[in-house]
Amino acid sequence: MTQHLADFAAERGIRYFMISYTDLFGAQRAKLVPRAAIADMQRDGAGFAGFATWLDMTPAHPDLFALPDPASVIQLPWKRDVAWVAADCVMDERSVEQAPRVALKNQVKKAAALGLSVKTGVEAEFFLIAADGDRISDGFDRAEKPCYDQQALMRRYDVIAEICDYMLELGWKPYQNDHEDANGQFEMNWEFDDALKTADRHSFFKFMVKSVAEKHGLRATFMPKPFQGLTGNGCHCHVSVWDAQGRDNAFADPAMPFGLSAKGKTFLGGIMRHATAMAAITNPTVNSYKRINAPRTLSGATWSPNTVTWTGNNRTHMVRVPGPGRFELRLPDGAVNPYLLQAVIIAAGLGGLESAADPGPHHDIDMYRDGHLVTDAPRLPLNLLDALRALEADTALQAALGRDLCAAYLRLKQEEWSRYCAHFSRWEHENTLDV
Ligand code: ADP
Ligand code: MG
Ligand code: MG
Ligand code: MG
Ligand code: MG
Repeated sequence: MTQHLADFAAERGIRYFMISYTDLFGAQRAKLVPRAAIADMQRDGAGFAGFATWLDMTPAHPDLFALPDPASVIQLPWKRDVAWVAADCVMDERSVEQAPRVALKNQVKKAAALGLSVKTGVEAEFFLIAADGDRISDGFDRAEKPCYDQQALMRRYDVIAEICDYMLELGWKPYQNDHEDANGQFEMNWEFDDALKTADRHSFFKFMVKSVAEKHGLRATFMPKPFQGLTGNGCHCHVSVWDAQGRDNAFADPAMPFGLSAKGKTFLGGIMRHATAMAAITNPTVNSYKRINAPRTLSGATWSPNTVTWTGNNRTHMVRVPGPGRFELRLPDGAVNPYLLQAVIIAAGLGGLESAADPGPHHDIDMYRDGHLVTDAPRLPLNLLDALRALEADTALQAALGRDLCAAYLRLKQEEWSRYCAHFSRWEHENTLDV
């Protein structure tokens, strides 16, 4: 069902296409291509210098071509003469294995070879803040327990409703919007779908939220912990595995505890086994580790995990089984790369399926209050370096996710950690001056 982007342009009155790919740090990189050139670009791809983005390439590498995937094309609802299209990276006529969307497609193919399709839904929380990035934009949004704050939600109605209207128009089936647990924080939910579709929508959602916020003179941030002491931006991912046609949910079994089938439990076993290494992907920034393992926030809870544990419908654990036929991974944060998020979940989960991994016992306790009683579960990494080391040590996960991708990712992230360590902080001065 190859769609000609030139026809799409003619039907919709598109003047420009953004041919967009996502690099290893989750940045979206685009070229704006006039409609007259789109047929050639669809065939040959748009050219980029890979070194100029986070893909672990050198200036001597040949051109990188971003080949648009017409199945992903979206007309921008707020700028209708432009369309966004996700692209896959190619170099010397070969797929670039460390390109995140390529990596996800590889995982989707692996699942398909087993007769399975993975369906996911993400909850990409964000803050609406002042344009300079320093403060919450709504000076009245100061409640100690601001979750579901009706008044604060309606003060941002123009932004939230505009984005939700666009999702309705795009057919994403959005179903609720709320003020979240931190001052200035919101969440908008749309229906789950195939992992690749969710990843494309997740990417586009971030672009759309930022664009609409800017249009309203605000700024949107998905930063994991933008304000000390306030709840951070999670990006929970709900996961279920279906047959190849996506009709029969292989995770659903009403006879099993929490309604999670034996297959679902082994997939979850893979997630539990690889969780500390996965954190390098799901919690990819220095700031990510201020959201997980965090002290109590102003609202009373961080809503983020610190230990590799799972349970039924209880939000203090890393994994929750909220209802039959799916689980929720609560580890990922707003900085997560939308494609690598899905890729690493499938890679770890399929590994669990293949080896009949045991997720271990479920701990049905309040982890914030009684977590110290759990002595048989690993702690999540305390910082980015620990997470990178865990991924480095997890050669099985690296093999499942792709060795080229992991090598490139680890190299770039270790360099980032070094840059962070070279930065002198106020804290050092305050605590070391009088030694
Ligand atoms: P909560 O805040 O309680 O964790 P939300 O309603 O905010 O839940 O988000 C739930 C997400 O899970 C939505 O994207 C929803 O479509 C998705 N979801 C529901 N059922 C499934 C399923 N079987 N497989 C994957 N995702 C699912
Ligand atoms: Mg040039
Ligand atoms: Mg939610
Ligand atoms: Mg939430
Ligand atoms: Mg959730």
